[in-house]
Amino acid sequence: MPLPPNVYDAEPIPEAARAEIDRMLQSGDLFRYTAPENAPVTLLERDFAEVMGTRYALAVSSCSAALFLSLKALDLPRDTRVLIPAFTFAAVPSSVVHADCIPVLCEVGNDYRVDLADFEAKLDGVQAVIISHMRGHTSDMDAIMALCEARGIPVIEDAAHSLGTTWNGRRIGTIGRVGCFSFQSYKLVNAGEGGILVTDDADLVARAVIMSGAYEHNWSKHHTDADLDAAFARWQNRLPLYNLRMSNLSAAIIRPQLAEIPRRVTDGRANHDHVAARLDASPWMQVPRPLPPERRAPDSIQFNLVGLSDADSRAFAAAASARGIKVQVFGMSADNARAFWNWRFLPEDPGDLPQTRAMLMRACDVRLPARLTRPELDLIADALIAAAQDVMGQPRAYGT
Ligand SMILES: *Cc1c(COP(=O)(O)O)cnc(C)c1O
Repeated sequence: MPLPPNVYDAEPIPEAARAEIDRMLQSGDLFRYTAPENAPVTLLERDFAEVMGTRYALAVSSCSAALFLSLKALDLPRDTRVLIPAFTFAAVPSSVVHADCIPVLCEVGNDYRVDLADFEAKLDGVQAVIISHMRGHTSDMDAIMALCEARGIPVIEDAAHSLGTTWNGRRIGTIGRVGCFSFQSYKLVNAGEGGILVTDDADLVARAVIMSGAYEHNWSKHHTDADLDAAFARWQNRLPLYNLRMSNLSAAIIRPQLAEIPRRVTDGRANHDHVAARLDASPWMQVPRPLPPERRAPDSIQFNLVGLSDADSRAFAAAASARGIKVQVFGMSADNARAFWNWRFLPEDPGDLPQTRAMLMRACDVRLPARLTRPELDLIADALIAAAQDVMGQPRAYGT
């Protein structure tokens, strides 16, 4: 029997990165602002904006940094309330706290998407919104944009896990005022660490560029246009410098991966849909469907345990682990950074959020990188189905 695949390994970095990295090792040219123009980071920004179809992109040290700079670039006063989904990674409320704002949490449904009734109820008193498309599950962006536009509330998209996802044919991350992506190793494009924000708003990106660490006139080394030049002139010397820049080395590792995105998206979706269909055939597991306008780009699978108690759910995770597959039940793995009750740094009590809590106690997470083969995917599906049977017994045969 083949061994369970290591789902944490990334793909090799494309060979094309090597020549550029060698050149940098020779020259020592690692800082994005040493060269007068066309530094690797600047070229990445140009290429990424082109891939996304946005006017501007700013590469930074992480998606968390991109979220923080987005909030700062919106010029929100201290203690502004920022609405975020209660199901997200701890980095998201952390970026809000870092920007001297207060996270307000809204309920998330069994399908991992923002609960629109609770979202609308909590919009009053909020001055910005971050939508985390958690694990690449897209919340209803038509409804969210309509509610926020009617109130003049800016929307930041946390698209860390949504590179390649579309909504009615539009790229996720380009629907809100600004979209943020991650290049951390567990995301679709891997540079170890890194992030990027995209926007069409010249004033917003000018502020973010300066605050990211474009001191003096280093902003002139970015790809600019007349609107952006005017915005840079407006904000010169008026903003703090947080130094969250990306290094040329990271950009050189990312750029040749951009061409790989379509393949990784297609393969990741096929892998996901194959495992999803198999798990759905088990009476103990249910995989939420995508929303009709959504075309997903998954590199992991989430499913809900059905008819299992807390003890059964723990036993399921242990049985899967014994069969070589690590399953994380979000609300049950100790200190999970995606369980809101572990965000003990929040300045305000987020309330009880029973719906999100119930979801987290049954929602399971398994990585499914695009490079996995069909036999490896079947091995994962077999192990999960068998683990549920270990705990719950054989499902009753039809007709008995
Ligand atoms: C990974 C992730 C982040 C943080 O990205 P970093 O680049 O590690 O800061 C934020 N939000 C979501 C949904 C993520 O998956």
